[in-house]
Amino acid sequence: DRTKVLICGGGNGAHCLAGLSASNPENETHVLTLFADEAERWTKVLQSNDLTVTIVKNDGGSEEIKSKPTLITKNPKEAVTGAEIIFLIVPAFAHEQYFREISPFIGDNTLIVGLPGQAGFEFQCLHMLGEKAKHCTIMSTESLPWACRILEFGRLVQILGFKETLGASKLQGSISNLKQSPFESVQKVLGPKPVLREIQNYIAVNLMAKSIIHPPLMYGKWSAFNEAAPLKEKPLFYQGVDEKQASLLSSVSNECIAIGKAIEKQIPGIDMSEVIHILDWFLTYYADQITDKSNLMTTMQTNKAYDGLLHPMKQVDGGQFVPDFSYRYTAEDVPFGLVVLKGIGQLAGVDTPVMDEIITWAQGKLNQEYLVGSELSGKDLPKTRAPQRFGFKTLQQLFDV
Ligand code: NAD
Repeated sequence: DRTKVLICGGGNGAHCLAGLSASNPENETHVLTLFADEAERWTKVLQSNDLTVTIVKNDGGSEEIKSKPTLITKNPKEAVTGAEIIFLIVPAFAHEQYFREISPFIGDNTLIVGLPGQAGFEFQCLHMLGEKAKHCTIMSTESLPWACRILEFGRLVQILGFKETLGASKLQGSISNLKQSPFESVQKVLGPKPVLREIQNYIAVNLMAKSIIHPPLMYGKWSAFNEAAPLKEKPLFYQGVDEKQASLLSSVSNECIAIGKAIEKQIPGIDMSEVIHILDWFLTYYADQITDKSNLMTTMQTNKAYDGLLHPMKQVDGGQFVPDFSYRYTAEDVPFGLVVLKGIGQLAGVDTPVMDEIITWAQGKLNQEYLVGSELSGKDLPKTRAPQRFGFKTLQQLFDV
């Protein structure tokens, strides 16, 4: 009696998870990818190849895991029917489409996992599943378990590094009844590393979302930029961080911590101790990779995991560069990141002046309206995952789901 695992997505993370899951004979692994012709292409590749996951070891060597998922399809009914664990492993803007397509076929006692969920995952999942959510358990992780990239579509994916531990929360529907602990089930699919660590509540995982990193760095770099003076080269994203950018990120992180503390005061029994400062997070998760740990700026400048990463830029006439605000650092990490955290802060009664300043700037670049002054009442709020958009009106309601 094999565990029926469904993986939604067709990118780097989905390739890794499909390979790891299918290499365990106790799983029957399906993949659903709705994007373009990915399902057809991937199916074709696997007719004459295995799916290989190459794991780069610390000593420079590597290990290969070969396997074949049972089914790769774009047909939601075929993919979902009977699934016991469903992973969503796509950028946050694609979650809505997956929820819409899979929900008619989701059965009772299904475990739905956002890997990572990103801010607002649970709000959207509850909303789109409706009554069905009562029969399901929703989990989300704070990040992806690995740094990974596809080397050859459908056939070869590389894991550059595993996280040691990964925080995850669960939200159990009132009549959901799983055979196994959701943490054990997910751990079995991932394998031994990273070790899942239970976070007490889902709002803490939201406040730990790593989508807070990019928008302050974008704002700090580009708010005074003159489009009439394009650059000759794309600047380094992390290695080029300056004091102003680091200070903006630090302030946003402090605002998340303040929201967590305010919630602890208002809702009995809630523990937000996992919502730590971004500097402490870097020092914990990239311990071996950072050469200068003096402060947040030097920590980002000297993190090997970030070597060579550049600002998202687009080319203009004459071959020079201007920033590309349609890239996910702003287009995704604001509506599916900062705006959600701002919304939680608003329900907790916490002022977030630095988040507000960054959102106000970013919405101008995105030609959207989320904030009006310091209130989330803009006309484009329905395109975000702020709790207000899904009808949450009080802080208590976030904990009554
Ligand atoms: P990815 O960039 O590989 O995702 C691309 C995939 O998303 C595509 O292959 C397609 O299946 C889907 N997609 C893209 N555009 C779409 C559209 N318009 N409609 C529907 N589907 C579409 O993503 P990833 O690298 O697997 O990362 C998944 C998540 O994990 C993201 O939130 C990412 O920020 C996060 N993350 C990734 C890494 C990493 O090392 N890759 C590390 C940390 C966090």
